[in-house]
Amino acid sequence: MALEKLGDQLRGSLQRLFKATHIDAKLIDHITADIKKSLISADVNIELANKITEIIKRRALAEKSSKLLTAREHTVNIVYDELVKLLGDEAGKINTEKKPTKIYLLGLFGSGKTTTAGKLAKFYKKQGLKVALVQTDTWRPAAFEQLKQLAEKINVPFYGIKDEKDPIKILKKFELDFDRFNVVILDTAGRDALNNELIGELKAIKEAFRPDESLLVLSGDIGQTAFKQASTFKEAVGVTGVIITKLDGTAKGGGALCACSATGALVKFIGLGEHIEDLEEYKPKNFVSRLLGMGDLETLLKKAEEVIDKDTAEELGKKFLKAEFSLTDVYKQMESVKKMGPLSQVIGMIPGMANAIPKDMLNLQEEKMTGWKFIMDSMTQKEKDNPDIIKASRLSRIAKGSGKSEADVRELVKQYYQMKKVMKQVGNPKQLKKIEKLMNMRGLKGLPGF
Ligand code: GDP
Ligand code: MG
Repeated sequence: MALEKLGDQLRGSLQRLFKATHIDAKLIDHITADIKKSLISADVNIELANKITEIIKRRALAEKSSKLLTAREHTVNIVYDELVKLLGDEAGKINTEKKPTKIYLLGLFGSGKTTTAGKLAKFYKKQGLKVALVQTDTWRPAAFEQLKQLAEKINVPFYGIKDEKDPIKILKKFELDFDRFNVVILDTAGRDALNNELIGELKAIKEAFRPDESLLVLSGDIGQTAFKQASTFKEAVGVTGVIITKLDGTAKGGGALCACSATGALVKFIGLGEHIEDLEEYKPKNFVSRLLGMGDLETLLKKAEEVIDKDTAEELGKKFLKAEFSLTDVYKQMESVKKMGPLSQVIGMIPGMANAIPKDMLNLQEEKMTGWKFIMDSMTQKEKDNPDIIKASRLSRIAKGSGKSEADVRELVKQYYQMKKVMKQVGNPKQLKKIEKLMNMRGLKGLPGF
């Protein structure tokens, strides 16, 4: 999950709130001080961190909670509210009705432009749009191949001229072809810093390409420096939005997100990993609710709808909700969930689940999943339906048949029971009502569990 450390710390502060017998000024002082410390350690600018803690404090003490919320819920809500404001306004979807919608990516070396170009191509292709990728990074010799390979992987057309040094020539050559596509994504060269050479080049490309969106790609690990980068790029070249990458691997991502918001630049997407699927439209509300461990059913359901066939989901979902599932069901569900992204990311979106399963276990599980298919293939239907019967002789037969060790087979059975236990916990009536309500709303009745 993104901003793991910040999330852990903020959830810690809220836990304190939940555990307290009553809420008074002293407690609020403690909690807001905690929150401030967490924000500063995520490289959020000190003034911004000060400001938000003062506001939370003032609101928590001044506002009366409504009838519908307990005092605790009310305070949590204020924290949530203010964090959402700090982390930015929602940019809204990029309008792709115009044909072609031209998206121009710019930024410094290594910010993640080329990777993000590929991710965006995949993102729009999944929506059924015709997408093309264009390379005008003539600065780095490897850039041509890098994007070409990504294009092949996603199976979208690629435009570029190997060894051509002039980006404008590349654009002019293919310009007329672009009209065939819904979305044309343009990758550009970076530099170590925004110097005059880069500004000149980016302006010339902009003039020749006439983009609908100019998106600045920033790496999350620059933290609050993002403020300066976003402002200078905005001023020098003009940008319509920002994409922040590498939020999976840095403690400073919170600082970067807040800094962009402070410049008024809207963050449109966030990058959450090196894989082509690790891109999300940025929605501060969903983001903060996940960060605080409140889950993010909307995002999860949207992903689930994309990858899980509805009937399977419905049938499996019922079994999972009641914690009545066999190993065959686990396998089917695993396959679906795998398509949704890394397990840890998926689990983080289920309310209350962000902390329920240790991350190590999730990572382990993810690796193990590959081996599980072999093991399950060597089981009889009876064994899959009722793993209880797998004792010594069956164990050794399955191990031999699958080419795995007996320990591996035992582990699978153990994990299965562990999952059952977790599902029983998640499946408490209150949680279920909420999940079912949302699913009914979307006509999707299965819980995309795991
Ligand atoms: P460019 O120079 O701006 O084109 O940057 P690249 O797209 O070549 O990316 C630079 C490095 O960052 C590569 O190793 C990418 O795999 C990595 N990268 C890009 N986006 C992400 C992300 O969201 N998460 C992680 N962990 N790595 C990323
Ligand atoms: Mg590049």
